[in-house]
Order: sequence, then structure tokens, then C-alpha cells
Amino acid sequence: MPKKVLLKVENLTKTFGGLKAVSNVSFEVHQGVITALIGPNGSGKTTIFNLISGHLSPDKGQIYFAGQRIDGLPPHQIARLGIARTFQNIEIFGHLSVLENVLLAISPRLRPNLWETALRLPSFFSKEKKACKEALRYLKLLELDHLAHASAASLPFGLQRYLEIIRALATQPRLLLLDEAASGLDGSEKALLVQLIRQICAQGVTVLMVEHDMNLTMDLAQEIIVLDQGKKIAQGAPRKIQRDPKVIAVYLGSDHAAD
Ligand code: ADP
Ligand code: MG
Repeated sequence: MPKKVLLKVENLTKTFGGLKAVSNVSFEVHQGVITALIGPNGSGKTTIFNLISGHLSPDKGQIYFAGQRIDGLPPHQIARLGIARTFQNIEIFGHLSVLENVLLAISPRLRPNLWETALRLPSFFSKEKKACKEALRYLKLLELDHLAHASAASLPFGLQRYLEIIRALATQPRLLLLDEAASGLDGSEKALLVQLIRQICAQGVTVLMVEHDMNLTMDLAQEIIVLDQGKKIAQGAPRKIQRDPKVIAVYLGSDHAAD
């Protein structure tokens, strides 16, 4: 049976000044399929993520998530519909603890509301306890639970990336956008990340990732979309992409050759 389309991007265009950062790009992401968006630096990958997550509005084109049109909606509404993301330049609350960072992402249903908090009602303590338990369960996924009370800013770079991913997962998204989540990670950190992505995908979260590490991309992605200078130049299974002359030409001509 063909897989359901979760995300559909149609004729997406975004211009900055005179520069066409994204030019008439169309693609679909199917539910449960790990999809990668690749291309040389400046080819429009992050801009596409910003358009999907509502951090930018397209000049032209449409974006549909689970059949609903979402382009132009503000980021918090898109997040509420079930799209979570991480940023190429990590965005965490450095002054808060690791645990507090995750607690903020946990569904408001699980967190005590304003009244419960202000009046310290019994439900405040039970909800707080539940939310902490849930946050710790997420931290365990990437072995960060023992650092729950450390300040987020004190974590080494790789673990800050992990924290950002965990925070995105704690919102219980249907679609997770990872922007260069493996960059700056060492070999064993990358291996754990790959394992986690497979695991969450098996649990029903669809992953769309931007990745520079070609080995990791070819290993993990089931579908690859290739961009060059804002345009889509290829799409298909990893094996097909690896042999595509247009893709090879782009990578041989860039600093990020598929080595
Ligand atoms: P990638 O993530 O593939 O490296 P980006 O989407 O970040 O590429 O950038 C695509 C192009 O758009 C680049 O030339 C970049 O300099 C430009 N660009 C991205 N964001 C902005 C912005 N906010 N203002 C102006 N130019 C931008
Ligand atoms: Mg980028």
C-alpha cells in the first residue's frame, strides 16, 4: 500500500533581496519515511525548514501538513499541529537546567496550570512529578538523564545538540525537522543519534533531515531530495541519488563532496 503523504511542498519560492534562496521547489514527505534534504552550502535547505516551521513565509507556493495548508501560519501554530524542529545553530535556554529545558517542551496538559502553581494545589505536585518523570524518560533516550540538573549552557556542544533534539521530541511531534543534527558530534555520538532516529521513526514520528555527513545520510535516509542554488535537482532512493550525474557534478564542484 502506498504510504500516506504527511508533508507536501508545492512550487515553493523565497527571495531575499535579489537572491532566489528557494526556487519553485516541490516535494512530498511520506509518513514514516526518513527523508533527507541535501545540497551544498547556501542551496536553500535551512530556508525550506524555516518556511515549513513558519519562521519565514513563502513568496510563492504552498505547504500542506496532513492535508492542511500551513504556509504563512505563525511558528507556534505550526508547532501545535505537530511539527517540531531543531536549529542549525543550537537554540536552547542556556540559563535553565537540562531538565527545565525539556519540561518547557512537555505538553501543557501534563504541566501544572497557573492556578495550580500559584496556590500550590495538590494537583500541582502530582502534575509536576508526572511531567518530571516524562522529561526524564526523554532525557534517557540520549543518555542525558544523569545531567538533568546541570545548566544547559554547561553541556559540551554535542550534548547541547542532543538536548535540542530531546526538547523537540518532548512536544510529541508527528514530523521532526532536524537541521544538521549530527554536525559537531563525534563518532559514538553520531551512532547514538542514528539509533535514536531509527527508534523514533519506528514509533511513528516522521523525520525530515538536513545533513552534511554523506555516510550518515546514505545509511539513514530512505528518500533523498537534492538541492542546488535553491532548485531541486534530484529526488529518489539513496542508491539512485549516489549514481545521479547531476548530483555528482554538484558535489564534486563544492567543498562538501560526498566523501
Ligand atoms: P543552506 O541551509 O542550504 O546552507 P540557506 O537556506 O541557509 O542554505 O541559504 C540559502 C541562501 O539564502 C544563501 O545564499 C543565504 O545566504 C541566503 N539567506 C538565507 N537566509 C537569509 C536571510 N534571512 N536574509 C538574506 N539572505 C538569506
Ligand atoms: Mg543550513
